[in-house]
Amino acid sequence: MGGVGSGYWYRVPRRIYIEDTLQLDIRDLKRQGVLNGNGSGMLSWPVKQLSAEYSIGSAEVVLKAPWLVGKQGQHIFLSPSDCNFGGQRQWFECGACFRRVASLCCLNGLFRCRHCYCLPYRTQGMTKEARQFVKLNKLEQLIFDRYDNGFRCKKYGMHWKTYMKLMTQYVNMGGAQ
Ligand SMILES: [Zn+2]
Repeated sequence: MGGVGSGYWYRVPRRIYIEDTLQLDIRDLKRQGVLNGNGSGMLSWPVKQLSAEYSIGSAEVVLKAPWLVGKQGQHIFLSPSDCNFGGQRQWFECGACFRRVASLCCLNGLFRCRHCYCLPYRTQGMTKEARQFVKLNKLEQLIFDRYDNGFRCKKYGMHWKTYMKLMTQYVNMGGAQ
């Protein structure tokens, strides 16, 4: 029988989006100070309740965890590019296609770029209307404070100038005034 729990439904391939995977983002590493110098420590993905040991050198990050492929750790190469205004910016190099990317996704314990895994962003799988709705919703959360009685008003502390600018965007997109 094909009811929920019988196993039947689980065989239907579910579309996987980037947002569903565990991601390693070079910007996060930078923000956390991981990229500075030769260090080691732990990286964690609280949402997935997973963590990995990392050690970083000038040219690679090595990740070690039982859920990751590679007993010696997974080596992810770093690839710098020169910035327009001097200095350098770090990228990951995908271990399969050698693309320079800002973030890698982990599927089945292996970090690869989204191109290799053919992963779309969740918003790409939506219709135009659905995307619009999400945008409108985000804008709404940005602009308004909500009250329990259903009224809403300008977010506390927001400048009127900002409010008017966002409000114009909101109304132009079809938001109700
Ligand atoms: Zn790749």
